[in-house]
Amino acid sequence: MGYFTFTGNPFVDAGLLALLAWNCKKSLEDLNLNDLDEITEITSKLYNSERWRKNLYSVFPNNPFTNPSVKEKENKYLEFMADLKQNIKPLNTGYGCAGCGVREPYKKFTKTDVPLTGTRDLRNHFPAAEDGENYCALCAMLVQFMPLVLFSCGGRFMLVHSVSEELNYIYVRQCINEVKRQIALGDLTGIYDKGYKNPVNAVFFLAEEIVRDLTDLFEEPIAVRIYNFTNYNQSPDLSIYDLPARVFYFIVRAKRKGFWREWQELKAKGYTGKRAENATEEEKKNLNNEVLNKLLNEESVVSYFVNPQNRTITGNFEFLSLYLKEVRGYMEKRIETIKRVGDELARYIKETDDTRRLFLLEKANSYDEFRNQLRIIYRKRFEKGVSTPLFTLDEYMEDLFPEGPQNWKETRDLLLFRIYETLSGWLTDKPLEFTEEEEKE
Ligand SMILES: [Zn+2]
Repeated sequence: MGYFTFTGNPFVDAGLLALLAWNCKKSLEDLNLNDLDEITEITSKLYNSERWRKNLYSVFPNNPFTNPSVKEKENKYLEFMADLKQNIKPLNTGYGCAGCGVREPYKKFTKTDVPLTGTRDLRNHFPAAEDGENYCALCAMLVQFMPLVLFSCGGRFMLVHSVSEELNYIYVRQCINEVKRQIALGDLTGIYDKGYKNPVNAVFFLAEEIVRDLTDLFEEPIAVRIYNFTNYNQSPDLSIYDLPARVFYFIVRAKRKGFWREWQELKAKGYTGKRAENATEEEKKNLNNEVLNKLLNEESVVSYFVNPQNRTITGNFEFLSLYLKEVRGYMEKRIETIKRVGDELARYIKETDDTRRLFLLEKANSYDEFRNQLRIIYRKRFEKGVSTPLFTLDEYMEDLFPEGPQNWKETRDLLLFRIYETLSGWLTDKPLEFTEEEEKE
C-alpha cells in the first residue's frame, strides 16, 4: 500500500523531501510510515531549542512550541504527531485533501499547523477565505518537517520549489545536512541562515547552492520558484520570486564551462553607488544588485559586460556568448557576425591608429549617430583598399540591428566589448577623450 506522493503543494512537498533526505533515501517507493518516527523525535527536540523556537513564531504561531501557555511542549507536540500518524490513510482512498488530493481530509487545520491558511478572522492567502483548510493527516504531518528545509531571509523564510523533484532534492539534502551538522555539534542555531536580508540576492545564492551540487545537466532549462513568506500572527504575507529557466540554465552552464569566476565578476558589477564601494562581502548581501535584479526581471545586462570609461570588459567573448545564447536567445550566426564585425572594427582602428573613431563610436548618442560612424568606417575601409565589406546588408538587418533603432545600444556594447578584448594591450596608453566635432560626410 503506498502512502507517499508528490503533491505540487510546496509546503507538503518540502516536508516530504525533508523526510526522504533525513532518511537518506532517494525514492518515494523506499519510504514507509516508520520513517516518520525518527524525524518526529528529532523535530520535537530541535523545535524546542531557543533559536528554532524563535524562528517558529513566523512559521507555526500558537503551536505547542510557540504558544507560551503550553507546558510540556515536546510531549504536546509528540501527542499531536502521534494522533496524526494514527489517522494516516493510504493513497487513493478518497479525495478532498488540499495537499495530496487523493485522501479524505482528516480535519480542518489552521495557520497554527499549516502556514498561510486561515484562522479566525485572519484569512489571508487562503482561497476559500474560511477558518482553516482541509488536509489529510499525512499531509499535515509532512508540513511539520518543512521548517528543516527553509532558508532565512531578513525575518522571513524562503522555500525553494521547481518542477524537478531531483533539483528540489539537491537543495533539501543540503539543508538536512546543515541540520544534522547543528545536531552533531550541539549548536542548534535555527533555520538555515546565511545573513541575507535582500531577497533577490538570496534567490541567486540559493540557485548557486543548487548548481554547486548538480551532477547532471538537465535536458531542458528549469525555472526555480522561491516562496518568501512569513506566517507571523500580525502580518502573514507571501511573495514569489521566479528565477527564469534561461537565467538558471546560464548559471549552470557557466559553472560547467569553467566560467564561475567570470560569473562572480559580472555579479560584482551589479553593486553600484557609494555604499557598495567600501562594503564588505557580508554587507553586500543586503545591498541592491542591479545585475541580479535585471536578470530576475528578464532585462538585458549586456552593458555590465563592458565599461567604456576605462575600456575594460568582464570575462571574455566566450562567456559573453554564453549569456547571449542562453539568456538573450541569440542565434549562433548573430553572435558570429558580431564577433567578426568587432574584429574588423578593431583591425581598422589599430591599422589606421584611429582611436578618435573609437571615441566617436563610444560617444554615439543615438542609433543614427552610431550607424553613421559604422558607415564612415565602412567607406574608409574601401578607400584603404580592403575588398571585403564590413558587413553585408543581410548581416546588418538580421544580426546587427534586427530590431532597428530599438536596442541599438546593446549592439554597440557588444561591438565595443569585442574591440576592447581584441585591442586590450594596444589600447592601454591611448587617449580616452577627443573633441566631438565631426567631418561632413
Ligand atoms: Zn493529503
